[in-house]
Parts: sequence; C-alpha cells; structure tokens
Amino acid sequence: MTVDALTQPASSDQLLARQRRLASAADIADVDAVIVSTGADMHYLLGRSQGSHERLTALVVPSHGPAFMVVPELERPGWAGSTAESMGLEMVTWPDGDSPYELIATRLSAVPTINNHSAVAVDDAMPIIHAQNLRDALGCPVSPAGELIRGMRIIKSSDELDALTAVAQAIDRIHARVGEWLRPGRSETEVGRDIAAAIVDEGHERPDFVIVGSGPHGASPHLDQTDRIIASGDPVVIDIGGPAPSGYFSDSTRTYCVGEPSDPQFAHVHEIVAQAQEAAVRAARAGVSAASVDQAARAVIDAAGYGQYFITRTGHGIGLEVHEEPYIVRGDDRLLSPGMAFSVEPGIYLPGRFGVRIEDIVIITEHGAARRLNRSPIDWRLG
Ligand code: ZN
Ligand code: ZN
Ligand code: ZN
Repeated sequence: MTVDALTQPASSDQLLARQRRLASAADIADVDAVIVSTGADMHYLLGRSQGSHERLTALVVPSHGPAFMVVPELERPGWAGSTAESMGLEMVTWPDGDSPYELIATRLSAVPTINNHSAVAVDDAMPIIHAQNLRDALGCPVSPAGELIRGMRIIKSSDELDALTAVAQAIDRIHARVGEWLRPGRSETEVGRDIAAAIVDEGHERPDFVIVGSGPHGASPHLDQTDRIIASGDPVVIDIGGPAPSGYFSDSTRTYCVGEPSDPQFAHVHEIVAQAQEAAVRAARAGVSAASVDQAARAVIDAAGYGQYFITRTGHGIGLEVHEEPYIVRGDDRLLSPGMAFSVEPGIYLPGRFGVRIEDIVIITEHGAARRLNRSPIDWRLG
C-alpha cells in the first residue's frame, strides 16, 4: 500500500481512463453525453468535486470527442492545481447572467459525431432544476446516468481498495481508544465530541457521523447523540466514520458496555450478533448473491429467537459515498464480484432496553473470499 493512501487521489491517467470508459458506455447506451454535476460521481471521474450552490458546475463527457468542464466564472480559481487541470481538461467558464445550459447545448451541437442530441444522461444526484433546464436547452430527453456510472464505481480498483483500507485502519485506531472517553457520568454528546475530534486527528477530513447510542438509545439504529448521561452498566453502540482526504469513507461499529452489563441478556445478545456477523462475512464471496449474505446473518439471529429485532438490512456498499451499491439486503439478487466493498453490520435492537450492532467493512478479493478491512477486536469490554 502506498504511504499516502489516506490522501492520494487517483492519477490523471486513471481519471482519464474512467472518463473514456464512461464515454464508451454512453455510446453503447445511445446517449450523446453524460453530464455530471458536483458530488461523488464527479469526484470519481475527476479526482475531486467542489460545490457551487445553485450555480451549475458540471463535467460533460460526450460519447465522442473530448470531455470538458463547465464552471461558474467566480468558482474557477478553486479548481487551480486540480487534476482537472493536470489532465488538460478544457474548463469553460460562464459569468452570472449567462445560461450554463445553453452553453452546454451549443458546445455539444458543435461535436459533429454526436447524434444530434437524441438523448443525454445526467448523474442521479443532479438537482432536478439543473436536469430540467438541461432538457429545455438541449431539446432532448434527459435520463439518469446511474446505471452507467454505478457499473464502474461498484468495482474498486486496487488504489481504491488501498484508500478504503487506509481509512478503515484510521477508524480502527479510534475504536482502540474509546475507553479514554466512554465513562459513566458523561453524556453521549460529550463522548461524541471527543470521538469527533479524534476522527480528524487520526487522518480523516471530517467526521461524517458519530453515533453514541447508550442504554435504550442503542435500540434506534440511527439515533446520533443526546444529552443522556451514560450510567454504569449501560451498553453503548458506537458507530463512527467519515471521509479521508482521498474521498473514501470509513464506517465501523462496536457495541461496548460501561462496566458490568446491567441487563443480564446483554452478553448473550452480543455473542449472537458477533456470530451472525462472522457467518455473513464467511458467506460473502464472489458469485453469491447479496441477498444470500443478508440471509446468512439473519439465519443466526432467527435461530436464536431474535429475528424480529434485526430490523435493518445487513450492509451497504462504501467508497466515495458512505452508502452506495451494492446493498446487502433481502431480495437483492445481484452477484458479488471481486473488487466490491461493503459493510457487514447485523444488529439486534430491543426497544426500551438496548441495541447491539457490530460492523466491519469487507472487500471481495481477487481470490473470491471476503476480507475484513476493520480489525478492532469484537469485544464489549472496554480496553
Ligand atoms: Zn458511436
Ligand atoms: Zn454502515
Ligand atoms: Zn456504521
């Protein structure tokens, strides 16, 4: 792994190759151009993204001919020194008062090999107002480009896997230190604030979520933090993560107990969830369906009699977004392949009492098995 896997964006060559792949995918799909606004898809294709509020910033990838950027004039300095520049991408600026949509329409109609704007695709996260304005300016149907881009993003390259590994190790270092902060008499918010600071200290760009679910709060999978004071004997779900400067996310959960568990069932429930998580990691391999991995976790929890309290899917893909494809969920027949990265996070949520969730990111290796990127011990006792 490269030493700077936490920070290094993809090289210009890699980004250019991604743009070319997207152009051919667009061509095969009879789409004249894919227009990508700011967000994770842009980050994937360009090495970074930069928000521009209501003004349109977009990467335009025609099925034929060179890609180009459309950037508000006042935002142009922010792109100085970016990979967009080093790969020699043309940056077309537009001043306030001009229409970036007309600008794109004019540029595209000047590409002779394009089929006269029969169809254009835009990234799934593009605000509808931009998509509508593009449709009006181009005078052609605008469809979501999700399938075209997702097919690329769902399989991670070795550099992307290095980036995910590096950020997973960074979040493991936080879990190793949770005992410093999680003590009786402190509020969830106080603990969360310390963890958030440590997430940045350990090399993340920012914390994205810091769930500290103590006692009965742990039974709500996505309840962040409150001013509840943590008592001795409380189980506490700690689910934390965020993006590294590379753009790739961490996401790992451990459930701890402050002192000896006050609920006599806690240790047993923790053991069941640990077994379910292990079963799902073992079941995950190239060629099996996402649903079968979910089922592997569910079978263990069902057999223990807690099936009705496993109220979430088993996992989600992760990369430049904290939740992306593939989703490890009932009914999803997608087959897993080498290069996929996703969470395995079964849980048991007992309303009014406590919750237990254990979450690691795994990748499907080239040999077909799943490998955990997170390595913190699965133990509720605070170190
Ligand atoms: Zn063609
Ligand atoms: Zn997760
Ligand atoms: Zn999580």
